[in-house]
This record gives sequence, structure tokens and C-alpha cells, in this order.
Amino acid sequence: MSEQVHIIGGGITGLFLAYHHTKRGDRVTLYEEADKLGGVIGTKIVNEGLVELAANGVLLTDEMKSMLDDIGLSPVYPNQAAKRRYFFTNQKLSRLPISIFTGIRLIITVLFKKIKFNKDQNFETWACQMFGNSVTKNIIEPAIGGVYGTRLDSLQAESIFSKWEGTGTKTILQELKKNKSKTYGTVSFPQGMGDLVSHLVQYLEPKIEIKTKFSKANLETILKWKGKIRFSTSLKNLIPILGDHIEPNEVPNLLSITTITRFGKNHLTKKPCFGVLFGKNEGIRALGVLSNSDIFPGRAIDGLHSETWIYPSAAKTGDSITWESILEEDRKLITKIEDSPKAVYVTSWNGVFPAYDRKLFLFNQKLDSLETQWLSEGINIRFFGNYRKGIGLRSLFESTSGE
Ligand SMILES: Cc1cc2nc3c(=O)[nH]c(=O)nc-3n(C[C@H](O)[C@H](O)[C@H](O)COP(=O)(O)OP(=O)(O)OC[C@H]3O[C@@H](n4cnc5c(N)ncnc54)[C@H](O)[C@@H]3O)c2cc1C
Repeated sequence: MSEQVHIIGGGITGLFLAYHHTKRGDRVTLYEEADKLGGVIGTKIVNEGLVELAANGVLLTDEMKSMLDDIGLSPVYPNQAAKRRYFFTNQKLSRLPISIFTGIRLIITVLFKKIKFNKDQNFETWACQMFGNSVTKNIIEPAIGGVYGTRLDSLQAESIFSKWEGTGTKTILQELKKNKSKTYGTVSFPQGMGDLVSHLVQYLEPKIEIKTKFSKANLETILKWKGKIRFSTSLKNLIPILGDHIEPNEVPNLLSITTITRFGKNHLTKKPCFGVLFGKNEGIRALGVLSNSDIFPGRAIDGLHSETWIYPSAAKTGDSITWESILEEDRKLITKIEDSPKAVYVTSWNGVFPAYDRKLFLFNQKLDSLETQWLSEGINIRFFGNYRKGIGLRSLFESTSGE
């Protein structure tokens, strides 16, 4: 039976929700505060090429492929060179920054060691105990930091691997297999990630009611709406909406991120690659860098190389230093040469990421119990977004499909 669904928040999560409900034949109204849809995702076309404002790519799955067919969008697949990924640890670039012996121990851990979370341990302590110091420092720290926008000691394993059972009964391999749907690597789109938003909007426009510039209705009013209520605002915007339903000490921590897209003549690494992830205490303030024009064709005009650097916004410690100078200093530590860019584009996002820590884990439990409580009162309300089941677009697509 066709149901009325109210979706509040028209970022990619809200668009994915609208897509899935439309496929099921539901009547959807999408409410967006801004005058445009897509939230943080967007692509700026500049003289030198494309600049992504947030996500640079999406992990392609069969379900995602079928959605792309529906909306008439072809993915752009990465170049072969994108298979090459570097870690910068101990002041040098390396594709596998651990010894063969440590590598064998890592494989044995993944195969046989049972996962046990500890609520009192931060991710760094937990990982050192689980995998040992070398793997934590040289692989996990750079890999996780670049994706989650902060360092391991500000994160918690239970929150990041929220789909895993951490009671000491399952191995990592068992959990990886359980959650694995087939993937075809990271893809983008001809005009960048903005294409995904514009094609989804074109597909949805004739099928749903879209209310942009929607002036904030308060929660008590929304709870009276007839039909399903689905929140897909960012976590930052959800907190004030929830008001008294959460205590001040339950408010989760938010992270601020700055991304810098740099166009220049010279490559960052000798061989083209996906990018470089940075360990802690290497003197580099960035968490990671993507070599855009090595990954996807058409990201920079002929002869230019494009890179996107990801920083915690706190890396800029004063008004007298510029993001450009921070980036060039970091870059020099890798290339060992002085260089100057052709153009640099800076995007700063305030409170854009949830910190995947203990507080977020408890906050999600609170949201689960609010959902259950409201459902028992006949109000069908649910919360979706990158603070719930994973940070990336693939997780957002999958979590919004199954409800
Ligand atoms: C720098 C950066 C790089 C990233 N890179 C990748 C990547 O390469 N791959 C990947 O998979 N993911 C990546 N991500 C993660 C991914 O982009 C985000 O998790 C995702 O875009 C979040 O989408 P969202 O719709 O949940 O939130 P948002 O994009 O924040 O959208 C929320 C929407 O809700 C609206 N809204 C807020 N309050 C209200 C209200 N009261 N009423 C109505 N509307 C409201 C907002 O205006 C906004 O449009 C990256 C994120 C960032 C910031």
C-alpha cells in the first residue's frame, strides 16, 4: 500500500531515502532548509579542472549500479594507477609500511583473533592490543585518520565498527564476510560527484514533492504529521532539533574538516597513485591526500596535476598562517623540493563529521530507544545519516534501502 513519507533533510542521505521509497511506490515529500539539494556534496568547475567540495568518489556495488541505471548516470572508473596507494610513515613513502613478519602476524590476527571491544579504550589503545604497535602506527592510524577526519586516540572501535559483534565470539574475517556485498571499487561521474546529485534530483522531481527553503518546523509539530517521518539532516543540525530529548552531556562531539584542492605542474609522487595517507608524529598536519587527476580522467586540464588534501580544521593554528602555506610545507616533506601551485581552492566544513567515539555510540543507542518509544505511541520516526551506520556514501545508500 502506498504510504506518505516525510523526509527532512535533502542531502545525499535524504535523496537516497527518497529514491528507495519512490521505488516502493510511496508518496514522498522532501523538506530541505537550503535552496538547493545535495547537502555537502557538490562539484565546482574551475579554470584548472574540477574541485570536489566533499566526497570525491563512491564505492560501487550492484545495488548502486542499478540505481545509476535508473537515474541515467554512467560511472567514471578509476585509472589503473589508482591501485597504487602510499603510506607516509617514518619519513618515507611506502606501499606496505610493515615487515613481512608483522604482515604474517596481521593475517593470523584477522583469521583467528576474536574481536572484543572495550568501552574504556580509545581506538589507538584497542588497536595496539588487537594488532600490535607496528600495524597500528603504520597502517591503521594513517588509514582510519584519513577517512574519519581525526586521529585514533579521538575515536572508538565500537563506534566505528558498529555492525560488528565485539563480544569475543567472532573473528575479523567472519565479520568482514558477514557484511560484504560485492564492490567494484571507487567511482566518480563525468562532471564529478555533483552529477550524482543532479541526476538523482532530475529523477525524483516528477515523482515526489520537494520543498526547498523549508523553514524549520519544530519537532513537536513534525511528530504530529501523518505518515512516516524520516530525519536525514546532518548530526550538527539534528542536535538542536532534538532539544530536551537529549541531555547536554549526551550531545555527541563534532569534527571540523578543511579540504584543499591544489592544481600544479608537478606530481606529488614519482609514480601516479590513488594518494598518500599520513601517520601521526610525522610532522605532517594533513590526514591524507588524494591524487585526483591520477585517479580519474578529466579532473584537471592538460598538463596540470590535481590533489585534494584533507586537514582537521584545527591544523590552522592562527590567522597569520594560510592554508596554502601549511599545504606547501607538508608537501615539501614528501617531495623534498620547493614548488608553487598554479591554483588552490579551500573548503572548510564546520562540525561536518561526527567523532566516532564512545559518546556517538551512546547517542545512537539513545536514538534507537527514542525511535522505539515513539513507535509505541504510534509515531513512525527514524533517523538516518553518517552518524548512524557508517560515514561513506555506500553505507548511506545501504542503510536507507533496508528500512
Ligand atoms: C570533506 C569530505 C570528504 C568526504 N569524502 C567522501 C568520499 O570520498 N566518499 C564517501 O563515500 N563519502 C565521503 N564523505 C562523506 C559523505 O560525503 C557524507 O557522509 C555525506 O555526504 C553526508 O550526507 P548527508 O545527506 O547525511 O548530510 P548533509 O550533506 O549534511 O545533508 C544534510 C541536509 O539536511 C539539510 N537540513 C539541515 N537541517 C535541516 C532542517 N531543519 N530542515 C530541513 N533540512 C535540513 C541541510 O541543508 C543539508 O542539505 C566525505 C565528507 C566530507 C565532509
